Amino acid sequence: MADADDSVLFNVYRRADVEVVRGEGVRIWDDGGKRYLDFMGGVAVLALGHCHPALVEALSSQARTLWHASNLLRTPGARKVARRLVDATFADAVFFNSSGSEAVDLAIKLVRRYFNTRGDGPRWRVITMERGYHGRTLATIAAGGSAKLTDGFAPLVDGFDRVPFGDLAAVEAAIGPETGAILLEPILGDGGIVAAPPEYLRGLRQLADRHGLLLILDEVQTGLGRTGRLFAHEDAGIAPDILAMGKGIGAGYPLAGVLVTRAVADCLAPGSHGGTLAGAPLGMAVADAVLDIVLDDGFLSSVSAKGDALAARLKDMVRQHPAVFAEARGVGLMRGLKCRVDPWLMAGRLRDAGLLVAPAMDDVIRLVPPLVVSDAEIEEAAAILDRVAASMASV
Ligand code: PMP
Repeated sequence: MADADDSVLFNVYRRADVEVVRGEGVRIWDDGGKRYLDFMGGVAVLALGHCHPALVEALSSQARTLWHASNLLRTPGARKVARRLVDATFADAVFFNSSGSEAVDLAIKLVRRYFNTRGDGPRWRVITMERGYHGRTLATIAAGGSAKLTDGFAPLVDGFDRVPFGDLAAVEAAIGPETGAILLEPILGDGGIVAAPPEYLRGLRQLADRHGLLLILDEVQTGLGRTGRLFAHEDAGIAPDILAMGKGIGAGYPLAGVLVTRAVADCLAPGSHGGTLAGAPLGMAVADAVLDIVLDDGFLSSVSAKGDALAARLKDMVRQHPAVFAEARGVGLMRGLKCRVDPWLMAGRLRDAGLLVAPAMDDVIRLVPPLVVSDAEIEEAAAILDRVAASMASV
């Protein structure tokens, strides 16, 4: 057997004692041959499931053609993927990086640069949301702000003013002379699957316009079709100035990025930002293949339909097991079940029964399956939930 000593890895995860070795579609197998339905999806990374043939082919074909090139040279892949994203969204320009944290970190940098280059500063403070999650870099833990993220890491990056999620008046009250931006997830992900009402997002857009602020959306978890839209904010009929994406754009390949309007892009100049792996060919090949599928006719509406089916089954669970589940919530294939039992215990029992889910804040288990999940797989997951909840009613 291979070395099973994890002490050589940072001890930062509540890792289950399951060694996974193979995946296909919505299924994943452990080293004992046990099969699981993967409704954790990476978390919410596996837009197209495990080992999707089109992505495998795109990556291996690119690997045989051009493995890597410096950003001091032009490459067709980055330009093509950026063009496709610009054509499909509010954005005029894109910067690629390797993780969602880096994408949000850049968004925060851009606020400072934007106002400084316009001579309209210093406006560098950013209003963020309680229970928000934006990553684990020094700036993004400060933006998220919860104790779980920041404990022991002081002094924190300064400049974040936190308000309760969903409270427009609190945002307005927090705007000061040095405020430059409002940053939020359109649906709290790690915070427990809480969707911002469309009128709240519209209100934030209006506030930003009235006060000359940038509106930054962190769509790292909600983007790339997860909600049945390419990006979740489209439901509210608004556009941000800056959007951070991640997870689904690489669908498991380490890729993220920042989409911006022309006004924001214009504050950058050669040398003002960069990254060794920014827009590198392998990731771009994967992203192009992801977009082939996600932007294909009917794909996003299929996500909505399957999201509705999952939502209906989760509502059944709450009705049938009121001692175990308190509430079902979410949008599209980004769903949460608020538990009346410890969500980690629940996730463990579900895992034993063959269903992987991801715990989140507020006693929620997240169900964020690959967007290619089938109706039959949703039914199978619901049957496991039902069985496990019945066995836990007495816990
Ligand atoms: N923002 C949001 C909304 C996220 O959900 C995450 C990851 N959970 C991040 C940022 C950070 O992304 P990464 O882990 O790729 O750095």
